[in-house]
Amino acid sequence: MLPWTTYETVYEAALNQPETFWLDAARRVTWKQAPVTACRARTDGWHDWFPGATLNTCYNAVDRHVKDGRDGQAALIWYSSATKERQVVTYRELQERVAGFAGGLRSLGINKGDRVLIAMPTMVETAIAMLACARIGAVHVVVFAGYAGPELARRIDDVAPKVIIIASCSFQGQTPIPSAPALNEALAAAMHRPQACVIVQRAVCRASFIPLRDHDFHTLEQSTPAEPVTLHSEDPLYILHTSGTTGHAKGIVRDNGGHAVALALSMELIYGCEPGDTFFTTSDLGWVVGHSYGVYAPLISGCTSVIVEGGASASAIRALCHQHKVKCLFTTPTQMRLMRQESRHLSGAILPTLARIFVAGEYADPILLDWARSYFHKPVVNHWWQTETGWSITAHFFGLPEREPASLINDIGRPAPGFRPSIVPSVPDEQCGEIVLSLPLPPGCLAGMWKDGAIRVPSAYLDETGRYYRTFDEGTIAANRAVHMLGRSDDVIKVAGRRISGVQIEKIIAAHPNVHACAVVAMPDELRGQRPVAYVVLDPQAACASLSEEIVARVNEVLGRWVGLKEVRFVRRLPTTVSGKIIRKRLLVS
Ligand code: AMP
Repeated sequence: MLPWTTYETVYEAALNQPETFWLDAARRVTWKQAPVTACRARTDGWHDWFPGATLNTCYNAVDRHVKDGRDGQAALIWYSSATKERQVVTYRELQERVAGFAGGLRSLGINKGDRVLIAMPTMVETAIAMLACARIGAVHVVVFAGYAGPELARRIDDVAPKVIIIASCSFQGQTPIPSAPALNEALAAAMHRPQACVIVQRAVCRASFIPLRDHDFHTLEQSTPAEPVTLHSEDPLYILHTSGTTGHAKGIVRDNGGHAVALALSMELIYGCEPGDTFFTTSDLGWVVGHSYGVYAPLISGCTSVIVEGGASASAIRALCHQHKVKCLFTTPTQMRLMRQESRHLSGAILPTLARIFVAGEYADPILLDWARSYFHKPVVNHWWQTETGWSITAHFFGLPEREPASLINDIGRPAPGFRPSIVPSVPDEQCGEIVLSLPLPPGCLAGMWKDGAIRVPSAYLDETGRYYRTFDEGTIAANRAVHMLGRSDDVIKVAGRRISGVQIEKIIAAHPNVHACAVVAMPDELRGQRPVAYVVLDPQAACASLSEEIVARVNEVLGRWVGLKEVRFVRRLPTTVSGKIIRKRLLVS
């Protein structure tokens, strides 16, 4: 039971007495050495959460629930939209498989602090690999399985993994795509050489192993089990890359202690979940929502987590909710639009155990939210997230008995405890501007950025005073603390809720010998929310014919098809400022 009854009391408690608030919140986690300090400034200017305390995240997500009698409860339920397979893994089975695979990683020479790159679709083995890393203090780096070789190579060089784990194939719709070609292409291009690769063999498309390099995932699971090691709260748990303004993917580092505390609190306060409840996240495990709410938060909280490979159909989502008594469904507006499209001829869903639905990741149209409410007959809310923050910056709080003002229903809600947003107006005295967050950020947010083999201060996100974290999102804040989001202030594009920087695409197009200049902007897309459109100025002597396809093919080759670049518009010149900077906003109205 939460000790607060209203939003204001919980928010004010975190604001006015942060040490007491977060040390209290930390009781949800099993520590080896309990914290006596919540937050401490680091010598480099960033902050550590629960310094001096020790724990193991995998122990909190798995072992303690087996000890507490949840051994027979389903921990993970996995469904593949591609193969229609389904697996239910109990907490006992998860403990055995994770401990065995952790032992297997040890036998490959993996120790505390070593990076393990996991380039797999959403599978039970992906979660096992993540938890096994957490168990032995290795740092997992999950990479979306849809990335093409060059993007994978960049991430390999960024984190220098000792081991890379892949599945023999992923799927595009129902079509199996072998993973070895992208891996081999990436390894040929990367400077770094991993010591070994581990492959999950899938029956539909088996990989041929390269002797000495490749190991079988399921054989490694039979290794001598490894016990959870004791880690410092601030030790890194994982690195997750995300796109930003620079065009380079940034490696966001998450700690162990702050992450576990924030996620455990959020499950109660925001999602209104208790141990034993079932939580269903449609996000791929390669994205932040998959990390936080596909794996760590539900498991740390002793819930059952439903995960899916590929985009599940409306009927599959309904069936999974029904069969597994899902209480909370967390999805994206894009997935919701797909459901709306498919459900045109279906009657509304009758799902007695489903309590509420959450969306995040991109703009959610109130009409879409209304449709979802009338289709599911349940509350449907939107909340605001970033990979960097690891949990929602603003939300609706289902763990509190207080009913929210109706005016908040279609918006992203009010700040979660510890987030202190303010607006930096672009024009003096304007209400609207970039949303910045006062430092320190609450636990669970980025513990730093991975750069040159170490954790650095995320200076790219600091404003010039060094006191605020820049979200690069624009909006307004009302007197009742409600935040209203208007969109990104930088060039980040959200394709089906996934983030890609326009500059990243531009760099690939600009490398074409016939391209003189280019700009990539986000255009609205009926199904996927946004899609990139490229404006290209060709060299005067170059002919347009077939160049459009060539450009699209290049982008697909480097970044992967998921980016969805289909439209290349050839123009004579791009609008620029007097100093020659491209004014992308002007392209949006053309
Ligand atoms: P990602 O790091 O991939 O989760 O993307 C974070 C970005 O997605 C944010 O900075 C926003 O621009 C956008 N975003 C996330 N949640 C929402 C939301 N509920 N409404 C509108 N945009 C959102």
